[in-house]
Amino acid sequence: MKKLLPLLLIAASLNASAQNKTAEKFAAAITPEALKTKLSVIAGAEMEGRETATEGQRKAAAYIEDHFKKLKLLPGDSGKYQMPYPVYQDSITDAAFDVSGKKFAFATDFSIAGSGIPQGTFTIGNIAFAGKGIKDSTHNDYDSLDTKQQWVMITVSAEEEKSFRSFYRRIIAAAQSGAAGVLIVSDNFPKDNSVYKGRMYLKPSQVKTPLFFVSKQLAEALINTGINENTARKNYSTTAQLQISKHINNLQSTNVIGVLPGTDKKSQYVFITAHYDHLGKQDSVIYYGADDDGSGTTSVLQMAEAFAKARDKGHNPRRTIVFMTVSGEEKGLWGSEYYTDHPLFNLDSTSVDLNIDMVGRIDPDRNYGDSTNYVYPIGEDKLSSDLMRISDSINNTYTHLELDRKFNDPNDPNRFYYRSDHYNFADKGVPIIFYFNGVHADYHRPTDTIDKINFGLMAKRVKLVFYTAWDMANRDAMLKRDLPLNAEKR
Ligand SMILES: [Zn+2]
Repeated sequence: MKKLLPLLLIAASLNASAQNKTAEKFAAAITPEALKTKLSVIAGAEMEGRETATEGQRKAAAYIEDHFKKLKLLPGDSGKYQMPYPVYQDSITDAAFDVSGKKFAFATDFSIAGSGIPQGTFTIGNIAFAGKGIKDSTHNDYDSLDTKQQWVMITVSAEEEKSFRSFYRRIIAAAQSGAAGVLIVSDNFPKDNSVYKGRMYLKPSQVKTPLFFVSKQLAEALINTGINENTARKNYSTTAQLQISKHINNLQSTNVIGVLPGTDKKSQYVFITAHYDHLGKQDSVIYYGADDDGSGTTSVLQMAEAFAKARDKGHNPRRTIVFMTVSGEEKGLWGSEYYTDHPLFNLDSTSVDLNIDMVGRIDPDRNYGDSTNYVYPIGEDKLSSDLMRISDSINNTYTHLELDRKFNDPNDPNRFYYRSDHYNFADKGVPIIFYFNGVHADYHRPTDTIDKINFGLMAKRVKLVFYTAWDMANRDAMLKRDLPLNAEKR
């Protein structure tokens, strides 16, 4: 890599466009100190890890709203800075399992295994016992079974019980056999007697194949025989009834949106986004999410401040700049999905989304080039041939980072392109650039804390986004949409 350096410098001097002194003046507001001050709040204990539809998320939203207000940005959603969207979470109100008149207790003898809570009364007259339920090229536990519309029972070992992932494939095989439901024989499923709550979800849908954990005792009552290695894989008739009633809790989360109106092109938009939610806490352990995505949220707030300062000195952008921090990202890109399904600004007139998710750290696996001076831009090779050209020109003019595009490789197994909020914009045809630093040992751990953030490098990366946004908000034409979005879905 080093040998390429002189060549790169020549390229830089050839490509560099004239520096915009005005942009440079206001980019100076993006300092490591200012970023640190804001991130200390966002990734502080007070915000409790910012889980969607919890108190911590609401505190973070209030802080962001307050910042947008102070900067005199306009509220994005008809007079409000927070765009609400519904989130649902089921809780079980009643659950019973009756086998030939014998009652088994919820949370002691059986429990829900899937992420969704099924509802209703299931009459079970036949069980297809599939042993471990292995179905691959060398072994098929389903050979002699009739599974269509029957309840399939599979077993997991004590070792496997530690991780759902270890037997996930076998559950899929059971569900795909056409089963009415799947019973997983396990003695160590979570036995929590408090009100059982399902995972939150964005869009209500029916549970296709109900999945339950059942104790060995209940399982043996169901097929009326002992369960061990030698138990015959066959259909057993039974007389059982499983009944589940649930209550749907209506929760809410928000995207926080501040708007800086443009001038002669004000009905065209440049979006700058990041997600402000993270994983919350487990028991009393806080997942701070300083890098993920406290860093991106802080970046959006600091850029908003820099652009507002420019406005105060009479330098309004030509296009309207929309600063949007979304929630629900960690749950499955919910906030951006909701926004792009219910856009407040015309998506066809949205020139670009610059999305920032994790820009405060150094990828420990990056053992080439200058690891203290890089960023991974992702998605510049899709939808618009303007993206990469502008990025290079801006970077060569102002920031001189290594723009490492290795994650644009469609064969990269990480599939980062599909894993943050820009994807929902791209899916609707809006060109995007995703700015990213790579993952690290603290990714999605409570140890993703502020002391590990490299604010000097972060400020440089944020400046790259700032200058890019400045250019895209002020150039004559919107970005052209001349490349196909990779047809592959996430
Ligand atoms: Zn994350």
